Amino acid sequence: MEKLAVFGGRPVRKEKIFYGRQWIDENDIAAVTKVLRSDFLTGGPEVGVFEKKLCDYVESKYAVAVSSGTAALHCACMAAGIEPGDEVIVSAITFMPSANCVLYCGATPVFADLDPETFNIDPESIRKCITPKTKAIIAVDLGGQPVNIREIRKICDEFNLIFIEDAAHSLGSSYDGKKVGTLADMTCMSFHPVKTITSAEGGAVTTNNREYYDRLLLVHNHGMTKNKELMIENADEGPWRVEQQMLGYNYRLSDVQCALLTSQMNRLDYFVTRRKELAARYDGAFSGIKELSVQKQIDEADTCCHIYLIRLNERYLSCTRREFYDAMSAENVQCHVQYLPVYLHPYYKKLGYKPGLCPIAEDIYEGILTIPLYPKMTNQDADDVIHAIKKVVEYYRK
Ligand SMILES: *Cc1c(COP(=O)(O)O)cnc(C)c1O
Repeated sequence: MEKLAVFGGRPVRKEKIFYGRQWIDENDIAAVTKVLRSDFLTGGPEVGVFEKKLCDYVESKYAVAVSSGTAALHCACMAAGIEPGDEVIVSAITFMPSANCVLYCGATPVFADLDPETFNIDPESIRKCITPKTKAIIAVDLGGQPVNIREIRKICDEFNLIFIEDAAHSLGSSYDGKKVGTLADMTCMSFHPVKTITSAEGGAVTTNNREYYDRLLLVHNHGMTKNKELMIENADEGPWRVEQQMLGYNYRLSDVQCALLTSQMNRLDYFVTRRKELAARYDGAFSGIKELSVQKQIDEADTCCHIYLIRLNERYLSCTRREFYDAMSAENVQCHVQYLPVYLHPYYKKLGYKPGLCPIAEDIYEGILTIPLYPKMTNQDADDVIHAIKKVVEYYRK
């Protein structure tokens, strides 16, 4: 047995590898510098170019580029008309903005539990969360795998709910052959550097619904319209007239960032292909190891493999997740844990949420680790990760 680096052995690799990172190439840099030399840094033509490209890719009618994935979620909630008194059902394990956006609207997030194998929101749990106050569902495509679209759509139709998909992880994924972007009523994306494509900060909402689109346009730009046809008063006052019609925000994305995204979109399919190759390498290596399991993929889903989750099986391991994580770090493989169930954050506990609310999510959380996966990784990098995992598993095998 190899001596673990955490106990003074030799690490499997010299350089630390992290769980995710962007890939910017010279074309991306050229696209950005071109905008920097142009007339418009924001509010110019690049925004529309990117939105059109995103629409074409996901085959949606409309897209609105916004300043972050969090802004996308907030805009979607506003467009859905979420208000104080409303309840919105949210996946228990997600990054907190999936639920914070509900609080921004003065409404109440209600956390639904997860499927123990796919780690995605469980439609049965959604049903149990529904009350007369329920207005929408925010379902998160954890790790890139689309949620159970068919069942969630059925529930939304039955109870007249708005379906918002948090697709921060899943640009490039599809369900039943249809790209993520039109599966829900509104789809929210993030372009943070660890996501499939990046603009440093950035996000977008896609939809096929004209009404939502019009409201998204208002919300992300001060609740303001320049469109004469949409004006409530004095449309002919003069060409300068802009009109604020609701309370909105400045959630615009700049031309500099949109140009970067348009350039990144050229490699989106390649990024996804490469992520899948690496994930397949992991799948093959981990298939016989009973000390860990991986996220189950449903037949309908084709995932972009945003993050690769392993779940430690404590029955067969003599270490804690923390010890496993520390041992991996010492091997120079930096894992991560995504995510603490939202309602276990101190802020949510202060609001009255209690541990035990979603027992399956809490159980999943205790054992999961995110291992490195990003398109710029080499096969050797992936093999180092596999080597480190096998080494640590072997050491702690019961
Ligand atoms: C990244 C992320 C967000 C928020 O995106 P930002 O662009 O960082 O604001 C929301 N939900 C999930 C699941 C995410 O991973």
